[in-house]
Amino acid sequence: NKYLSDRINNMSTSATLAMAAKARELRNEGKDIIGLSLGEPDFNIPDFIKEAAKEAIDQNYSSYSPVDGYADLKNAISKKFKRDNALEYSASQIVVSTGAKQSLANVAMVLLNPGDEVILPAPYWVSYSDIVKLAGGIPVEVPTDIASDFKITPDQLRNAISPKTKMIWYSSPCNPSGSVYSREELEGLAAVLRDHPDIFVVSDEIYEHINFRSGHTSIAGIDGMYERTITVNGVSKAFAMTGWRIGYIGAPEWIARACTKFQGQITSGANAIAQRATIAALEAPVSSIQFMIDEFRKRRDLILELLSEIDGFRVNVPEGAFYVFPDISSFFGKELRGKTVKDASDFALYLLEEANVATVTGAAFGNPNCIRISYAASEKEIREAVRRISEAV
Ligand code: PLP
Repeated sequence: NKYLSDRINNMSTSATLAMAAKARELRNEGKDIIGLSLGEPDFNIPDFIKEAAKEAIDQNYSSYSPVDGYADLKNAISKKFKRDNALEYSASQIVVSTGAKQSLANVAMVLLNPGDEVILPAPYWVSYSDIVKLAGGIPVEVPTDIASDFKITPDQLRNAISPKTKMIWYSSPCNPSGSVYSREELEGLAAVLRDHPDIFVVSDEIYEHINFRSGHTSIAGIDGMYERTITVNGVSKAFAMTGWRIGYIGAPEWIARACTKFQGQITSGANAIAQRATIAALEAPVSSIQFMIDEFRKRRDLILELLSEIDGFRVNVPEGAFYVFPDISSFFGKELRGKTVKDASDFALYLLEEANVATVTGAAFGNPNCIRISYAASEKEIREAVRRISEAV
């Protein structure tokens, strides 16, 4: 539309949300679609968090909160960073936002000038690239593949750096690959960054607890990184609170202050009730969500076993989050039921139409050889979905 701004015309629609909408449409037509396209835990929010929200309503938490979040929530976040990540962030270094998505958008808007480059190890979370572009930045994708477990090496990072590089953004555990960077791997990347003191790091740790290997590493805790790292987290994934929309950052104080200034003109403080409930979530011991992590691990093992029986699917062993990211490029150029599969987008569409299973093309995450399958679904759905996929291909 010629009346819309270049800003919106140049933006792509979130592929995960688009796939979910398409699946919904087909369901409304009466098709039995299994949705494995969304990054959403299929558990209910733990009761103690719901109780905290109900209490907050009764206690009339109905006014605007401080823009950067309630003081006692920020204290709870500060304690959480210390407890889980050995990071010292005081309350003045913390900003609470409407989902980690807003946290990321705030950071892009306050740190990027037009033309600044942002290194995105690919595959990366679907929104990074459009958030960076919205802020005038230029995403610089660094491709990885299954052979390196979808992780970049220090050499790849060094080669991607230019005089215009302002930041690097990554998630570990990674959406979409499920890969987890070890401490040694992050130390290798930090060693490269130490030669470039003006490059900032966005460390998206929203899947921190959904990690099947031992230990999560926050890059802010590595020598020389604290002063230029923005640690992003939230309650969507760990506590199944996706719709409650609470995310947060820990960052150098001047960055936190800038994010608060920006947010103050865009949304103000995040939802008051959800903030109160988040205090309860973050103060609870991590053991209160261990059941979810155990369940996700079982499902990961199940889906890996089932997918390994399909010819043409090559899968790494994801160590966190709740996705598998199979390389399905062996199907490109082949005919399936009379339809030629050109690329991963064709393949995902084929699975939707012929197997009635919704997945997402890897192209949306910067990897055109793969598709993303979320296993945040019941065992029954996972078995049936893979059976249908297997039959369709
Ligand atoms: N970062 C990653 C890697 C994600 O996968 C998601 C959600 O899918 C987000 C951030 C955004 O989370 P929120 O629901 O807190 O906005």
